[in-house]
Amino acid sequence: METVLSIANISKRYGKIQAVSELSLEVKKGQVFGVLGPNGSGKTTTLSVILDLIKANSGTFQWFGQEPTNESRKRIGSVIESPNFFPYLSPVINLKIVADIKDLGYEDIDRVLHLTGLYDRRNTRFKTFSFGMKQRLAVASALLGNPDVLILDEPTNGLDPQGIAHIRELILQIASAGTTIIIASHLLDEIQKICSHVAVLNKGKKLFDGKVSEVLAISDSFDLSAASIELLSSTIRLHPAFQSLLPGIDKIQVFFKDEIDAEELNRFLFQHGVTLTHLAERKRSLEQHFLELLDNNNK
Ligand code: ATP
Repeated sequence: METVLSIANISKRYGKIQAVSELSLEVKKGQVFGVLGPNGSGKTTTLSVILDLIKANSGTFQWFGQEPTNESRKRIGSVIESPNFFPYLSPVINLKIVADIKDLGYEDIDRVLHLTGLYDRRNTRFKTFSFGMKQRLAVASALLGNPDVLILDEPTNGLDPQGIAHIRELILQIASAGTTIIIASHLLDEIQKICSHVAVLNKGKKLFDGKVSEVLAISDSFDLSAASIELLSSTIRLHPAFQSLLPGIDKIQVFFKDEIDAEELNRFLFQHGVTLTHLAERKRSLEQHFLELLDNNNK
């Protein structure tokens, strides 16, 4: 798959603060790539570097397999700061101004207004817009010229639940048309709902990256009991996905390397001569899992 963005060992310091440290990552065409981390973990700094808004102290990055050029920059749309348009002008006029600045024609304006659900309000003054509508206009403006990549920094910050739902749907719609999307967010739930891939940052360092389903996968555990705890304990060790177990008085807690289905587990034990008297699945919430990932890194 074509590499859209590759970052190699980027570091950025502000005085004593190491905002980004030796960060490397790759984003491929068509991915919805989340940069996930708590406040201050270096997300905005990273996006600012790859958009040439600030300079890194060291490291390099390439867009579309080449050093960044004016041409490659035209293939990238971004919303990094809170939406800023002329308050007394309509979305159409504001978008015409953006198109002029970007050296684009006006033919794309209706398309992006339709896409972001603002077409019916195209002639109303910007200052009458709700915050959600302002945010959608910022996305519309970034989409002018139909860029190959869209970069969004905390796109749902400050929005009400309906506004959040609108933006999320919009992002998924844009992604389904083949646009590569890079999103910075501190919200695990957001990344999980919209992203295909994720890099988890903490204190400017990358902890993990990969497919959302793998990086944020929860390792389930099961509480099990049977007439003979000894036989149960020795048999469960034979399961191919067995990882570890915590012995208890009348039950054991078992951890697996992969996701395990309760029915499959029950069948496996039965086939090996163990009849369970108790089986309960314990699922950690993703939130808990994310906090554990960060916590382990802080130790
Ligand atoms: P947030 O979600 O809070 O914006 P973030 O993950 O985007 O966080 P950054 O904004 O990149 O993180 O900040 C990373 C670190 O660099 C923080 O400690 C921040 O205080 C610091 N920092 C960011 N910009 C500047 C600046 N212009 N001058 C000094 N320090 C800065």
